[in-house]
This record gives sequence, C-alpha cells and structure tokens, in this order.
Amino acid sequence: MSYEKSLGTVDTHYFHMDEDLKLETGDILKKPTIAYETYGVLNNEKSNVILVCHALTGDAHAAGWHNGDKKPGWWDIIIGPGKPLDTNRYFIICSNVIGSCKGTTGPSDINPDTGDYYGLDFPIVTITDMVHAQKKLIDHLEIPYLYCVVGGSMGGMQVLQWTLSYPDIVRNAIMIASGAYSTPQQIAFNAVERRSIIEDVNWNKGDYYHTDKRPEQGLSVARMMAHITYLSNESMYEKFGRRLQDKNTFSYDFSNEFQVESYLEHQGVTFTQRFDANSYLYLTKALDYFDIRNNNSLEEALKPITARMLIMSISSDWLYTHEHMEDIVMALRSNNVDVSYSRLNSEYGHDAFLIENGQMNYIISNFLSKARVKDVMSHKVITLTDGADIKEAAELMMTCNKTHIPIVDTNEKIVGLVTAWDLSKAIATNAENIEDIMTRNVYTCHENDSIFDITTKMKEHNISGLPVIDEEDKVIGSITTAHISNLLDK
Ligand code: SAM
Repeated sequence: MSYEKSLGTVDTHYFHMDEDLKLETGDILKKPTIAYETYGVLNNEKSNVILVCHALTGDAHAAGWHNGDKKPGWWDIIIGPGKPLDTNRYFIICSNVIGSCKGTTGPSDINPDTGDYYGLDFPIVTITDMVHAQKKLIDHLEIPYLYCVVGGSMGGMQVLQWTLSYPDIVRNAIMIASGAYSTPQQIAFNAVERRSIIEDVNWNKGDYYHTDKRPEQGLSVARMMAHITYLSNESMYEKFGRRLQDKNTFSYDFSNEFQVESYLEHQGVTFTQRFDANSYLYLTKALDYFDIRNNNSLEEALKPITARMLIMSISSDWLYTHEHMEDIVMALRSNNVDVSYSRLNSEYGHDAFLIENGQMNYIISNFLSKARVKDVMSHKVITLTDGADIKEAAELMMTCNKTHIPIVDTNEKIVGLVTAWDLSKAIATNAENIEDIMTRNVYTCHENDSIFDITTKMKEHNISGLPVIDEEDKVIGSITTAHISNLLDK
C-alpha cells in the first residue's frame, strides 16, 4: 500500500433539496442545500459506499485538494488511493451538516420566508436532523445501503445515530473519540464558548451579516477554549513547554508571553476567517442535546443496532474519554452486537483522530477487511418453485433483472439453480424441460461468511453468484461478483 498517492483535485457538489426537512423539534427547514464531495467509483451493485461524517467545524471537503489550497481535505491522512478508506475500493461520500456554514444551509444563508439572512431565525437542529439530511442525500444519489459509516467526535455521534435511525441501511459503523451523550463537562465548555460569542458587542443578537462587523473577538476566544480541550497536557508540554515567544525573560505585563498563548491566539484568529459565529452556536447546541439513552439506559437505547461496529477511543482524550467509549462497547456487547474495540495509544488528546494515521490505518483496514456476506448481499429474495418451466424462468429473469434464480421446494428450501447461462444452453440444445438445464448441486453461502472466502469459492468453480441461505437452507438473498467488485484486492 502506498501513502504517497493523493486524490488530486476534487470538487464540492450541491444537492438542492426539492422538499422541506422536518426537524426533530417539529420545525421545518425549507428546502435546504447540502454540500457534499465524493471520491472513488460507485460499483454496479452500489455496495461499496462509505459515508464519512465530519466533526464540529469540519466540512464536506474530507480529502484531496481544492484548486489553490495550501492543504488537503481534513481527513486526507486516511482517505485516498491505498489509504484505509481506499478510493480504489470504496465510493466515499462526505457532506457538510445542516446548520454549518460550509455550503450546506445554515444561519448565514438567506431565509426564503423573509428574503433576509436567517441569523437566529434559523431553527434549532439536532444530530438526528443532520443524519436525516444525509439520508436525503443518499436517497438522491440512489444508494440503497451503506457499506460503512465513519466519523470522529461529532462525526461519531452521527455514526451512532445512523445505526439507530437506519439500522437496515448501515452494514458497518466506525465511531471514533465520541460519545453516546454529551457529558456535563462537555456542555459546560460549550456554554462558556457560546457565552463568549453572545457577549461580543458585534454579535448583535445574531444579526450581523448586513454590517462589516463580525463577533470575531467572541468567536476567537470560543475557539481558543475549545482548542485546549482538543489537546492533552502531555502534548502541550511537548509542543510548548513553558517556553516564551520571541524572548528570554518575562516582561511582567499582560502581553502574550508564553508560546502556548500566541499559539492559541493564532488558532482563534484564523478560525474566525473560516467559520461563522452563529453556526458555532447552533452546532454546539446540537452537541449538547445529543443523548441517545432510553431512561438513562445505554443497553436499551442500542437495541435496534444491527451493524457491525468498530469503536475507537484515544488514550489521552479527556474530553471524549475512553471510559465513556468502553461503556458503549459494554452496552453493545450485552446486546450481542458484533463489536470491535481499540484504544489508540496517543499523546495528542482528542485531536489524535486527525493525526494518528499509522494506528488508524491498521485498525480501520483490519476492520473493513473482515467484511461478511451480509454487509454487501442483496436481501431481495426471488425464487422459482420446483417444477417451474423454462419460459417462467426466462420471464422472471427479465422482469427482475437477475441472472441467477434459486429453485425452492414447498418448504422454501433450496433444491436447484437456474441461470442466464443455463437458458442459453436451453436454446442451443433445444431443451424443453428446466430439469435438463438447471443445476441441482448448488454452491451456497451463509450471511456471516467472509466475502474473501466466498470469492475464492466462486473463482474456484467459475461462477459469478451464490444464493445466501439460512440454517434451514431457506434462501434469504444473493451475492454476486458485482456486489464485491472493487471491495477486494485487485
Ligand atoms: N459465470 C457464469 C455463472 O455464474 O452463471 C457461468 C459459469 S458456469 C460454466 C455455468 C454453470 O454454473 C451453469 O450451469 C449454472 O447453473 C452453474 N452455476 C452458477 N452458479 C452456481 C452456483 N452457485 N452453484 C452451482 N452452480 C452454479
């Protein structure tokens, strides 16, 4: 695998919804626009889709380069050719959340009801609303299910919400450095950050878009505060120690003296050039409201999950702690969810999920490589009953657009298979009876089989499809080479 390769130049696309989005509060967001990017190629069966969910101030530009930019997308370390989210295998989608300011509709956009900027007229949005908006985009792209949903921090909350809101659609899920609910400490930090913005005179109750003044001071302090929570004490020692900035002795005044002070100030100021203060208010509020528990029970709340899960925590993250992530793992295990857990060993604190490409590469690639038949199979069951005739088989293939049709007995157990190849044989040999062309000795697979093992089986026998059967030999779906094309090593 090579990490040198880049996706090159990528573009942002815009999906203008032609319907309103109903929000969790009951409010309506009128026909929002969703900014998104895609990388890689969608395979024929649309079975190789990975949805990437971004964190608080992220955007749709997860990887590759925009023309003229000095740095690539925010998760370029793991998305691209040969990287864990390998664009040679997967079709990656990343969209900007609603309420943000990076191309998707948010408070800095025009309210169609008034013709003026939304400002505080923008409705309150939640993590569930963000996920519903992403589902609209997935529907618009005519994608039937997601091979995987992945994200860190606020992105991890969206991942968890996806597995709960759309259990039939999500096959694998990777939640990194996140939580099942916002803790009082997290809410407290968000509250101070919001207070800093609201107290800025230029905030003007959120109505500042008509002026050239922005609540930059407030937003910058909010970001400084947040940034501290993303780092660990060790990494701050490592990066700054108690070193002074451009001097050797204290000046005994209130100017920026320590390196850590100038660093934070720089982070705050640059942030104001790329983010809208009102969006910051709305998105931190969405974080605060997030709590998936049912009557305080994680186990109860996580019951609908059917996806295979990977939970990753970070050893030095004191904002989204590994203890909290381990509680989620325990609750998933007690629900018999297929869950893997890894703790990244890192000194970088919460931000490690944007930095530790080596460990993430190993853990994520390993998780994705263990894909099962049920992660990609088609659950549509189309069968013929034993004794059907050739014409019936041909008509069914035409109407259902299938090349492999299992034949079942009266108990729905598989007893044979007829394929498009067999129908050609019928024409070539003038066969009149389905018995003369069908295969009785059928190779099948089970939904928990590894797709790598069944690929070997298909190659060995020169066949392009396997019926998927349950423990009673009943057909529950099918898998073809089209489902797994792109997913395996070329
Ligand atoms: N690649 C093509 C395919 O998968 O149908 C053709 C290869 S093979 C020469 C054609 C024969 O394989 C047909 O008689 C068909 O019934 C049989 N066949 C296809 N899938 C099968 C399966 N899962 N188990 C047993 N036989 C199968």
